Amino acid sequence: MEITPKNQSFQMQTYKVAKIIDENYRIKTFELGASFKGKPGQYIMIWIPGVGERPMSLGSSSPISVTIANVGRFSNAIHQLKEEDLISFRGPLGKAFSISKLKTGNQILLVGGGYGVVPLAYLAREAKKKGIGSTAIIGARKKDDVIYTNNFGGAKIIITTDDGSEGIKGNVIDAVNKIFGEGEKFDAVYSCGPEKMMHRLAEICIERKIYCELNIERYMKCGINICGACAIDGKICCRDGPIFTAKEALRFKDFGKCCRDASGKKVELH
Ligand SMILES: Cc1cc2nc3c(=O)[nH]c(=O)nc-3n(C[C@H](O)[C@H](O)[C@H](O)COP(=O)(O)OP(=O)(O)OC[C@H]3O[C@@H](n4cnc5c(N)ncnc54)[C@H](O)[C@@H]3O)c2cc1C
Repeated sequence: MEITPKNQSFQMQTYKVAKIIDENYRIKTFELGASFKGKPGQYIMIWIPGVGERPMSLGSSSPISVTIANVGRFSNAIHQLKEEDLISFRGPLGKAFSISKLKTGNQILLVGGGYGVVPLAYLAREAKKKGIGSTAIIGARKKDDVIYTNNFGGAKIIITTDDGSEGIKGNVIDAVNKIFGEGEKFDAVYSCGPEKMMHRLAEICIERKIYCELNIERYMKCGINICGACAIDGKICCRDGPIFTAKEALRFKDFGKCCRDASGKKVELH
């Protein structure tokens, strides 16, 4: 079987947790005592024996790190780990964000919310190495939910909160409209966050003829294109994504509208 991108690894690997960082009241970063050749937008499938496997975006590949919100059974089990405990995973998996066509001096816009900032911050740091400048619009419900602002490699940061407790009161789309309205120009836009937000962002980028890539995080089970749990209109998120262009995403009739839950049932997105 041909493996693309070539840096993917389906083998289970196990490393010690070297460092745990408390990002906020419910999000922790886990740095492992190992590095690999992962890229921003790719993910690893973390396995906890007796609990299950879940995909997590890479926050860094050197060292390998993931940033996890404690929202349910699996993420809670990870949050119980201590430094020196072991984490097993398969990866890196999936397609990465693409900045290969961009040149030194180009400017990119990053739009994310919640733990969606994790792959975007990694992308900003990689872009900086190529001399590409980044502006990041980070959305959160409230001040305490804003994370990662120091991980964007010095990018310009714009924060929005629903309640106005930090930055602009409103959502990231309000900030995107504002920044475009002020005449700022970007060579490409990258996003990771709630699908409804990314759907609107995709429309805005198409209207403005700006290249845009989105990280579509569908419920994944196998990560290797066997089970079909993450299918979206003929594409398999774990293999064909999770990164899709805005053009591709807008062709998916389920994009921004509904997704499959753990049982495979279609549920409406709110
Ligand atoms: C490609 C990809 C990358 C991902 N990267 C990350 C990552 O970097 N960090 C991360 O924390 N998660 C990430 N996820 C989500 C992760 O895989 C799990 O779905 C998540 O940890 C919840 O699993 P759980 O078993 O703890 O909760 P579940 O039992 O599956 O869910 C518990 C409840 O929380 C809700 N829920 C699930 N996720 C969230 C959420 N993020 N915020 C609020 N409510 C939620 C569910 O709807 C459910 O009601 C990613 C998913 C994909 C597909």
